[in-house]
Amino acid sequence: MVDQQDVAVAEVEEEFVAPERGSADELLDAGAHSELDAMRHSAAHVMAEAVLDLFPGTKLGIGPAIEDGFYYDFDLPRPLTPDDLGRIEARMAESVKADHPFVRRELSPEEGRAFFAEHGQPYKVEILDDLAAKSARDGTPMPPTSVYEHGPFVDLCKGPHVASTGKIGPLKLLAVSSAYWRGDQSRPSMQRIYGTVWETQEDLDRYLWRREEAKKRDHRKLGIQLDLFSFHDVAPGAAFWHPKGWTLYQTLRGAMRDLQARRGYQEVYTPPLVEKKLWERSGHWEHYRENMFLFEAEGQTFSLKPMNCPESTYIYRSRVRSYRELPLRLAEYGVLHRNELSGVLSGLTRVRHFVTDDAHIYVRPDQIGSEIQGLMGEIRDAYSWFGLEPRLTFGTRPDKALGDPQVWAETEAQMRTELERSGMQYREKPKDGAFYAPKIDIQIEDALGREWQTATIQVDRVMLPERFDLSYVDEHGQQQRPVAIHRAIYGSLERFIGVLTEHFAGAFPLWCSPVQVTVIPIADRHVAAGEELAGVLRSRGLRVEVDASDNRMQNKIRMAQEQKVPVMLVLGDREIEARAATVRRRGAAKDAPQETVGWEDLAERLGTEVAERRAE
Ligand SMILES: [Zn+2]
Ligand SMILES: [Zn+2]
Repeated sequence: MVDQQDVAVAEVEEEFVAPERGSADELLDAGAHSELDAMRHSAAHVMAEAVLDLFPGTKLGIGPAIEDGFYYDFDLPRPLTPDDLGRIEARMAESVKADHPFVRRELSPEEGRAFFAEHGQPYKVEILDDLAAKSARDGTPMPPTSVYEHGPFVDLCKGPHVASTGKIGPLKLLAVSSAYWRGDQSRPSMQRIYGTVWETQEDLDRYLWRREEAKKRDHRKLGIQLDLFSFHDVAPGAAFWHPKGWTLYQTLRGAMRDLQARRGYQEVYTPPLVEKKLWERSGHWEHYRENMFLFEAEGQTFSLKPMNCPESTYIYRSRVRSYRELPLRLAEYGVLHRNELSGVLSGLTRVRHFVTDDAHIYVRPDQIGSEIQGLMGEIRDAYSWFGLEPRLTFGTRPDKALGDPQVWAETEAQMRTELERSGMQYREKPKDGAFYAPKIDIQIEDALGREWQTATIQVDRVMLPERFDLSYVDEHGQQQRPVAIHRAIYGSLERFIGVLTEHFAGAFPLWCSPVQVTVIPIADRHVAAGEELAGVLRSRGLRVEVDASDNRMQNKIRMAQEQKVPVMLVLGDREIEARAATVRRRGAAKDAPQETVGWEDLAERLGTEVAERRAE
């Protein structure tokens, strides 16, 4: 049986990102880097005041500001319940109303230690003892102990704080989890209360909405609800794709294959299991081995490939290449494996097994510009299918980089010119390039305002060209080095589908919806006509289901809505007589006017919408 408490704790830990703090300095850091943070940290003090008041004898850990809120760790006489959170919140409201000023005081180290010892706060004493030990070790004087006081409550704290408790905005306590003191499993387990506080009620409401919405949109939940994919502990970090999810997957890949065919790509496939020699040559053996799955067979070491790049060069080098062949665009949907720690695996967004819409484009140096321009077009096209606005960042040469700085500067100048020329917005991030190539990264912002990194374009003049000794014969018969552009537009298909699922809350645009149309016969006698209509639509390539169950029409509509099917076609006597159907679009208002459209006309309209990959 699963312990309910464990489940609640596991969810909390995924939701909040608060690195454990071990050293005394870390423990004293209030995390208050802005005015809003200072308010959040001040709310943590007020929460500690409330908890001490309601649970006398509570021993206090620490209470920093974190992203979107704050927490405080407590050593309490008993486990907290959701009711307790309400009581603590009410008690906090009293303190905020009283508008106690926050007053900073400095005590001598001895006074400070005595104060917290007297007040039964051993964790605070431990922090002070650690600081004293550190001063003794470093031979520096122990700084005075600073405390912040508001109303009846005094805490060991470096600050900063807001002026008074009345300055703390609207707040809400969210959850309780457990946390070991100093992140150390051999130390006491404490109860950590998370809260959030904002400057205005509107901000708080928006945050709470976003949080609820993110839970509802969690792709792992929607994957099950919509029968798209599931995860099983026999294959950590790899999805089991159900028929509908695999349809979505193949549809996205198919759209990219179409785009690539139009742009003159050729698709290749290289072995997933390769000998270690390859990785020694590419440098992955030295730099990336911990992330690779390794196997022994007949005295040789093999690895599942974590990326396609090096193997692509074997196809390039399989014969002499002429300058006339370039650009040579080799796309590959290779199966990749990376040995991520099981603890960090998360749904589709952090996996061990995945496929990217990868390509390696071999060009002459003078073709870099036009190729970048073409790639910008690919990005614009592909992201328009989802109504997403890609944001680009341009990462330049990092301090530790392979290759000649002069060549880097040249490549970067070409890339910058093309970025400007493309008219797309981008932000330059100095020194953020890969160690072998300047890169353009693509981010998207989802419906909840969360930013996701999806794709990348890297202009590599070192790693593949130099290490694998690539060449082409120029118009004078001379051997020249090509440039290798690594590019992915979706990035990992798994991750991209995870992001899309949450962005659309499972309501994918018509063109990529696993089921595009549900035909709803009103009564049994309409089912045969329903099948006939489905046949007309399928002949246009549409994915159609007929709900032939004996449910009532309203139920059938509700079920199709729950499955987020974009188009419902209702068929009764009247419609069949006219060889038409009444159209309901997903998400349309209940009282929206309904159109009745002829079958052939419907096939034409929906077929066109799909072919154009309209984002809706
Ligand atoms: Zn403080
Ligand atoms: Zn690559």
